[in-house]
Amino acid sequence: MFITNKINLRIPGPTPIPPSVQAAMSQPMIGHRSNEASTLIKSVSERLKPFFGTTENPLLFTGSGTSVLEAAVVNTIQPGEEVLVVVTGVFGDRFAKILTEYGAVVRRLDVEWGKTPDPEDLTSRLQQHPNLKAVFFTQCETSTGVLNPINILSPLVKKHSDALVIVDAVSSLGAVPFEMDAWNVDITVAGSQKAFMIPAGLAFAAVSPKAWSIIEKNNNPKFYLDLKRYRENLSKGTTPFTPAVSLIFGLDAALELLEAEGMTEVFHRHEGMKNLTRAAISALSLPLMTSEEDASPTVTSVYGADGWDSEILRSDLKKMGIVIAGGQQHLKGKIFRIGHMGYCDPFDILPVLSAIEISLKKQNVELRLGTAVQAAEEVLSQYV
Ligand SMILES: *Cc1c(COP(=O)(O)O)cnc(C)c1O
Repeated sequence: MFITNKINLRIPGPTPIPPSVQAAMSQPMIGHRSNEASTLIKSVSERLKPFFGTTENPLLFTGSGTSVLEAAVVNTIQPGEEVLVVVTGVFGDRFAKILTEYGAVVRRLDVEWGKTPDPEDLTSRLQQHPNLKAVFFTQCETSTGVLNPINILSPLVKKHSDALVIVDAVSSLGAVPFEMDAWNVDITVAGSQKAFMIPAGLAFAAVSPKAWSIIEKNNNPKFYLDLKRYRENLSKGTTPFTPAVSLIFGLDAALELLEAEGMTEVFHRHEGMKNLTRAAISALSLPLMTSEEDASPTVTSVYGADGWDSEILRSDLKKMGIVIAGGQQHLKGKIFRIGHMGYCDPFDILPVLSAIEISLKKQNVELRLGTAVQAAEEVLSQYV
């Protein structure tokens, strides 16, 4: 009944690739030290700036998102130095693990999964540990679907300490406003396979002058992830090692799409998808994991109805050609997550809602078919 290789991919990364981006990536290879490559590298770095909200040129890495998380750590923190990690889920925990691996003294502010930190808790943690070298945040915590308010949290760190602010914006940059300079963020890292609509394999890091002054003094052993090499090379329109040129062709095409739509309109679209997805889930009386205030425009997490396993829902959807994400770690089987970032618009989400209704009905959950779709359409009609 379904075309099984026609996949509606609705996980929070990797995300679907737009046709123009797919086509751009199949261009014939060029020399990575050629003038064409330099022009391209300079151009994409320049055009990424507005998404980071900075005057600094974002550095380009070949690697998955975690490569730049690790780069942010190894270039700034030396063994024995004290740091604070605000952990709101799996990805905050990943920062803590990397820091532990590199010998940092890791203080944690653990926040209940599905919530954002209370600014007062952050303040008291900062006062409790006056020697922090850096504070680590995740903008969108992909495992729960919260969007941490970096605009509030980062200035708070600066008010109470001298620590660097380092932000993982992998699953939000390109879909959600980010103002690195205005919010006083020192290092912002992002990746390619989420809102930037290209496959995994490129990662970005923007670095403030304050962070550079720390990085210059850092003497941790490092080679591939040494940020100074990337800065020096970028000034000449190149990268220290062979870049994933095909992915950069893709990034160029993806930025063209984002520029044509307009950054504000891109953010507005993601906000709208959050609203219609939440309205649809609420209409089904399934509990949303995040409050309206804390919810990310890029991914929506939902608790299963009492007594059923969200993995059954996922496998039903898979049969209908729709791929959504489950829960990670202790949330496995308990939640499902709908990714709505990148190359995604409302008419990509309606079939997901329809399929969820069909699966729930099959599992004898009380509902009227069409409930979720109708609620989504009602929200959508306000935008047309
Ligand atoms: C996807 C993601 C990453 C990067 O993961 P990789 O698998 O290394 O690309 C990091 N942080 C967040 C918040 C993410 O969503």
